[in-house]
Parts: sequence; structure tokens; C-alpha cells
Amino acid sequence: EAHGAVLVFDIDRFALINHALGLQVGDRLLREIGLRLSSLLTTRQLMVRLWADQFALLLPDADLAAAQALGERMMALLRTPQVLDGQRLDVSGTLGIALFPQDGRDAPTLLRRAELAARGAKRHRLPWLSFAESGAEPAHGQLSLIGEMREALARGEFVLFYQPKVDLQAGRMTSAEALLRWRHPERGMIAPGLFIPFAEQTGFIREITPWLLDQVMGHAAAWRRAGSAVVPSVNLSAHDLLNPGLADQVAELLQRHGLTPDALCLEITESALMEDPTLALTLLDRLSALGVKLSIDDYGSGQASLGYLKTLPVNELKIDRVFVDGVADTPKNAAIVRSTILLCHELGLSVVAEGAETAAELDWLRANGCDLVQGYVLARPMPLEQFLAWQSP
Ligand code: C2E
Ligand code: CA
Ligand code: CA
Ligand code: CA
Repeated sequence: EAHGAVLVFDIDRFALINHALGLQVGDRLLREIGLRLSSLLTTRQLMVRLWADQFALLLPDADLAAAQALGERMMALLRTPQVLDGQRLDVSGTLGIALFPQDGRDAPTLLRRAELAARGAKRHRLPWLSFAESGAEPAHGQLSLIGEMREALARGEFVLFYQPKVDLQAGRMTSAEALLRWRHPERGMIAPGLFIPFAEQTGFIREITPWLLDQVMGHAAAWRRAGSAVVPSVNLSAHDLLNPGLADQVAELLQRHGLTPDALCLEITESALMEDPTLALTLLDRLSALGVKLSIDDYGSGQASLGYLKTLPVNELKIDRVFVDGVADTPKNAAIVRSTILLCHELGLSVVAEGAETAAELDWLRANGCDLVQGYVLARPMPLEQFLAWQSP
């Protein structure tokens, strides 16, 4: 059954840019932007300029996810500053998506609806919206949840917990993972599993991650002033890996907090890497060149091949909890964990076992040369105060 998507891409604040540059320069800028964006299209996809500052894209066979993915790549491309007549311009855009056949069966209807969706996105300060979600009745209460998250961030309801990673040879904590919690005034503490996937899906994670990095680096700077060298790690999402500006943001924040790059570790999951491996790899190379530590998260849970370990500029690998669970008396898990440890050591990576819950698992991991352990058997994620008072057992 035939399907497809129409995407309207609306350049933000174009009136302002025009005002600053004069109409002719503004027009050239738009043509430049159009050229850049069209470089992302396949031969079957079509882009036309609609109005002054709007482009429409016709995407045969695309579903919502495919349309959104392309839109994301366009926005990522725009985030690299445009230079025109020696002037640097920061351009951003908003997306509206209408789907064929459910949102309309002819081009004018689809275009109008995609444009309505883009306007809705702008009004709600979202990077994108589909027509179905932009109506008076937002689907699944999504819009209200984004609004709530935005207010929560502004009101300081998001808090970071820290969970120690303990070096088994040295017998002390050398690093700690920052884990997000939402301290909701009515609903109590909300686990990240309940809102992070949604934040990722809507792009709201892009507002959370810079905030997270800033917080964590502030904490790390304070730890250093107090004489501790514990390295915090921050989880990056798939969205973050599509943001070419992230390396610059990280560098700028490190400088602002007076931190050396090795005072920060970033955790990346295999599945996030797989969204756009080429783009992700470029970003990871830049982060690695900065000197930031990189860690592969949830190793073994995805479809990643061993081969990519050789090419990725990573320092650490975290073995997923499912393999650590019962490792002491599950021969298959033991074989997987043991060979992963050996492989990592061959490649010069340090290994973290995630989610160790029992003394038997801990003993087994120590006996088999695992470098670091993170799990309830040692410590749960803790609020900052409690974490600062925590001592390795
Ligand atoms: P993750 O990155 O794999 O984080 C480890 C999760 O395992 C944490 O769950 C942690 O509390 C839990 N855990 C640690 N030790 C044990 C154990 O011994 N047993 C068991 N059963 N669980 C253990 P949490 O805090 O609920 O976080 C869940 C996921 O949410 C994280 O998985 C991560 O993917 C995501 N997440 C959390 N904070 C952030 C964040 O700041 N940014 C992003 N992008 N994602 C985050
Ligand atoms: Ca993690
Ligand atoms: Ca993990
Ligand atoms: Ca996980």
C-alpha cells in the first residue's frame, strides 16, 4: 500500500535575519540553505521553496520516523554556522510533517497540513510536530508532557543522582555515572525510563543534555577543588550524536568550569550509534581529539559487531547487566563476560560490569580481571549529598 510524507521546513526568525542583512543577502542565504539541504536528498525525494523562508519536501515511501530522521539531519546541518559575506549566521528551523494517506490524499491538502504542523511546532517551541499531534487535541497528551518537562527544567525539578564505578584492583571509586531523576511535585520521584525515551523521541533531550553537562561539570569542578579525582560520566542519547555542535559545546563548558577534558566521560549506547554511524563517528572523533573519555554503554544488548570496537575512539566498555546477572553460576554468561574482558584488554579498553547485585557476582568479576564494577551490590544511585559522603566498602 502506497504511503509517503510531506515535510515543511520553516527557517526560524528569518524576518530578523532579513532585517539585519537586507533582502537581497537574505535571499542569497536562503538559496544557499536550500542547496545545502538538498544535498541530503535522494533522487526520488523532491524539495521546493514554498515561501520566502519555507521549504517543502516530498518524500515517497517515507513514514513518520523516516521523515523525522531526515528533518533531524537537516536541522543538524543548519546548526553548522552559515557564513555569508564574512558574516556568521546562526540559522535554525522548525519542521511540520503530514503523512499520506492518513493526513490527506492530495498535494495541496498535505502541504497545508504540514505547514499547520510546523506552525504548531513553533508555537510550542518544539523542533518538529506531525499534523496529527498539532491539532487542538494533542495525541497521547504529548504536547502537555513536553510543556511540563520544559517547566520542570526551569523550576529545577530535574535532579542528578550519582552511582559509583569502583576500581576492583585499587579498591576505590574512580568514576561515577550521573543518572537523571524527575522530582515531580505531585507524582514524586520519576525514573528516567519513564521520560527520557519520550524526551528523545520529541527532541526535547536537546534541551536536557546541555543542562546536564553544565550541572555535571559544575559538580566535577567542586570535587576537584575538594581534592577528589572522580570522573563523572554523562549519558548521551541518539539525538545528541546527531548534533555536530556538541563537541564545541563540550569544549566551551569544560573551559568555563576550568576542567581538563579527561575530567569528563561520555557514555554512548550501541543503538544510538547506529542511528547515523557516519555522523556519530565524526562527532566521537572530535570529542576524543578534545581528550574527553568515551564509554560504550549496554554492550552486548544491541546489534553492534565487534569490528567497530577497533575503529571507535573509546576508552571504556560497559558490559550490559543481562550478562552480569548470575555470572558466577551461569556458564554462558560467564563465557561471554570472560571473553569480553580479554578482548577489551587486548584492545586497551577498560571494562565495567554493570548491574552487579550479589557478592558472588562481585567475587567472580574480581577473579576474572574485570576492571570496574557498578551495581547495587556496591551502591545504588544516590543524591549528591549522600554520594559525597559515600565510602567504598
Ligand atoms: P543506563 O545508562 O544503562 O544506566 C544504568 C541503569 O541501571 C540505571 O537506571 C541504574 O540505576 C541501573 N542500575 C545500576 N546498578 C544496578 C543494579 O545492580 N541492578 C539493577 N537492576 N539496576 C541497576 P536508571 O537510573 O533508571 O536509568 C535508566 C536509563 O535511563 C539509563 O540506563 C539511561 O539509558 C537513561 N538515563 C538515565 N539518566 C540519563 C541522562 O541523564 N541522560 C540520558 N540521555 N539518559 C539517561
Ligand atoms: Ca549509562
Ligand atoms: Ca548501561
Ligand atoms: Ca541500560
